[in-house]
Amino acid sequence: MARLTALGALVALVALGAACHPAAPAPPAPVAPPRLVVLLVIDQWPEWAFDQKRPHLHGGGFDRLLAEGEWHVGEHPSAATMTAPGHALLGTGEPAASSGILANAWWHRDVGRLLTATEGRDGETTDTWLRAPGLGESIAAAHTGARAVSVALKERASILMLGHAGLRLWYDGTHGAWRAYGAEPPPWVRAREAAAPLAARIHAAWTPTDPAELARLSGGPDIAPGEIGEKGFGITFPHAPDTTPSASDAVFATPLGNDLVLELATAALAGEHLGADAVPDYLALSLSAHDYVGHGWGQESWEMWDMERRLDRALATFMAALDAQVGAGKWAMIVTSDHGVSPMPERMPHGGRLTYGQIAAAANRAAVAELGPGEWVADARYPSVYLSAAALAQPAHDRDMALEKIVFALRSFPGIARVERTADVAGHCETRTGEDLALCLALDPERSGEVTYLPAAGWVTVLDDEPEATAHGSLNAYDREVPLIMLSPGRTAHAPLAAHDATTVQMVRIATVLARWLGVTPPTNLPRASPPR
Ligand SMILES: [Zn+2]
Repeated sequence: MARLTALGALVALVALGAACHPAAPAPPAPVAPPRLVVLLVIDQWPEWAFDQKRPHLHGGGFDRLLAEGEWHVGEHPSAATMTAPGHALLGTGEPAASSGILANAWWHRDVGRLLTATEGRDGETTDTWLRAPGLGESIAAAHTGARAVSVALKERASILMLGHAGLRLWYDGTHGAWRAYGAEPPPWVRAREAAAPLAARIHAAWTPTDPAELARLSGGPDIAPGEIGEKGFGITFPHAPDTTPSASDAVFATPLGNDLVLELATAALAGEHLGADAVPDYLALSLSAHDYVGHGWGQESWEMWDMERRLDRALATFMAALDAQVGAGKWAMIVTSDHGVSPMPERMPHGGRLTYGQIAAAANRAAVAELGPGEWVADARYPSVYLSAAALAQPAHDRDMALEKIVFALRSFPGIARVERTADVAGHCETRTGEDLALCLALDPERSGEVTYLPAAGWVTVLDDEPEATAHGSLNAYDREVPLIMLSPGRTAHAPLAAHDATTVQMVRIATVLARWLGVTPPTNLPRASPPR
């Protein structure tokens, strides 16, 4: 363990901390509690990409973060390196195996279809798939009157950062309006929408601020091998929303998407009276557009460099608003990510792209060899292959033989590093170590599919009908390692950091750190409701 700050001591003491929750270390010397604790998630923000970009970002935001904060490497605990499990982890302190949030969407055998992580059997938005309590419940359980608010473009990000309580706001791209979980958004949200109408902003084309600088920083032209675009945008600038199927939905893949989240989070300070008194409030925000830009053009692209430079300035504005409305030195913040991403497969030795349809077809061919013609595979979205109801209805011996054939077939499939029967690698994670532990923490013995697989380094898995430049979802370091910048209560400023320190922090600890700053019981220590089936 390298440098030990007060906070570093708190988070670094636990090397594993995922499957079990050891007693917390003694708290650091008391400092005045913050009035507001902020979690700022930059969706799809890998450590490797920030290491490359950091020397060139001097627009004010990152320099300030790194002049006030500690910069560690955060390591995600499991192979479930995707948005929904990542935000659930940040909100609850639980990896997929115990949060129950296995992926952005997974097959449900009882209804015979895929549901998103926040979609009920009736199609309505729900938080019931989340088995663990979150920081929203920690704050509610303290009965102090403190507020918990989350803001994101993505519904799953907003809901899962808080858990089952608090004001959870997200952007409805179909209607170009904000939504709230379980209720109409509060009047201040509608007032903000009326004061700064989205319709007046969403049609403007995204043009690069400085093309020559983007060429210099990226080391190449605007068009690079593998880029595909996102939300109907093309490969090269300019990106005009009115050329896409829906200008209001295209916001998900432009810098305006980040601005909208930061602006609504800023409006929430007054709207929800955040940081207005001595009882710490909680504000969680997630910059979802960052993820879409990464998927469409890659972290190395002109688009991502341009978005990062704009974000740098927007973060400075956001922190100035926190100073003005909460008070300088009276807020604390963690800036991190729900997962990383692979470099463009074209830049990786032996890299490539796999579709779930290709994996499902290979698995089905293997099953046909045992069971005869039929549709034996229901779904193959990472990290699981689910047998169909027809396959599950086969005699146990035949079904087992089919599973064996599927495992052997996928093991020889290009781009797949490891394939196992889920029953062999899921459950009792506390008895496992290393890669087996990280795989176990991504799986649920009941909810996961019968077979699990891991992509090889440089290989990304994508939907058949939604091609992507790059993707995440693996055990590889580029997916698991993210920047972790911690602006702790009572911090003192220093020269802006040029590089992260040598401390790797397990991301399962973040919810506990936030809870301690908030002065509430960590969600991992709250009683758990009986799990939904
Ligand atoms: Zn994400």
